[in-house]
Amino acid sequence: MRTKVWNVDKFVDNLENDPQIVDAAQLLRQNEVVALPTETVYGLGGNAKNDEAVSKIFAAKGRPVDNPLIIHIAEENQLDEFVAEIPEKAAMLMKAYWPGPLTLIFKQKLGVLSEKATAGLGTVAVRMPDHPVALALLKSCKLPIAAPSANRSGKPSPTTAEHVLEDLNGKIAGVLDGGATGVGVESTVVDCTEAVPVILRPGGVTKEQLVKVVGPVEVDRALTGGSAKPKAPGMKYKHYAPNAPMFLVDGTTDFIQQLVRDKQAQGLRVGVLATEETASHYKSDLVLACGKRSELPTVASALYDTLRTFNHEKIDVIYSEIFPTSGVGQAIMNRLLKAAGNHIIVEK
Ligand code: AMP
Ligand code: MG
Repeated sequence: MRTKVWNVDKFVDNLENDPQIVDAAQLLRQNEVVALPTETVYGLGGNAKNDEAVSKIFAAKGRPVDNPLIIHIAEENQLDEFVAEIPEKAAMLMKAYWPGPLTLIFKQKLGVLSEKATAGLGTVAVRMPDHPVALALLKSCKLPIAAPSANRSGKPSPTTAEHVLEDLNGKIAGVLDGGATGVGVESTVVDCTEAVPVILRPGGVTKEQLVKVVGPVEVDRALTGGSAKPKAPGMKYKHYAPNAPMFLVDGTTDFIQQLVRDKQAQGLRVGVLATEETASHYKSDLVLACGKRSELPTVASALYDTLRTFNHEKIDVIYSEIFPTSGVGQAIMNRLLKAAGNHIIVEK
């Protein structure tokens, strides 16, 4: 299959009627799958009501079928079609953070969405993306769109159309190129079906921001080191991993440099994931500055591109600095720990 690339200017007025958006929307209505930019990462969209379209998403990504998809909408009234009830706290969070990087879990009105999209669960994950191209496409096709990240399963998520093509060229009908995404990590997934909302996946909206609106919020114990099964099925899989093994290092730049020297002495090529503040401290085969430590949102924004860049060079092992877990740091560390298969080296 030839993958179409549409270059769209996200700043033009009336994007909904842009011929490229209309073309992409038509393909969605024909149950093809199309990649689209959102404010978090690029998504791979398909008609959430159609089994064939949803199967194409899973096939293109190589995604395990028990990992349900997030349904994307452009207007709140679309919820009426497939959501059974909107709890009060969910309504408060929607008012505060939609459109935005927040996914809410609702009880489902069964029989509307493809069961493949929701992995046969009685619940459904929904969000309204805050990106003019995504919103225009959703309005133009007038469908709820299932859209996981547009990468091969297990790889770092895509934050540019080039990343999407790296993984999915020839496997999908098209990609709307709207430039680099902003937030850089995925949405926060929050379960509002119980009295106290539970974070199932940390992301672009921080715990602090949630608490400000709804009071106490829990974090799924599986994420904080508990042995329980994660409530978001996707959280049990290895994810975001670069090709070379990666280790997070809880230590000084000198300690990390010593680890680099030891590996180089064994003839290995070593990568370091550093920050703008620390990159100049290292001598190694490839040192990448992933944003500014003093501004964690810049680290989130650069994270996946940095992980993918290690794949473009012949690197045998990667050492990464760690980050504080306040604010968006919680999502950054969640992704880094997964990318590193939970391997962390602590300086004694
Ligand atoms: P992705 O599509 O790759 O951004 O991942 C979506 C995340 O949301 C995965 O971790 C899914 O397991 C999770 N998710 C989707 N639907 C549900 C649901 N109904 N209940 C719990 N988690 C969900
Ligand atoms: Mg993903």
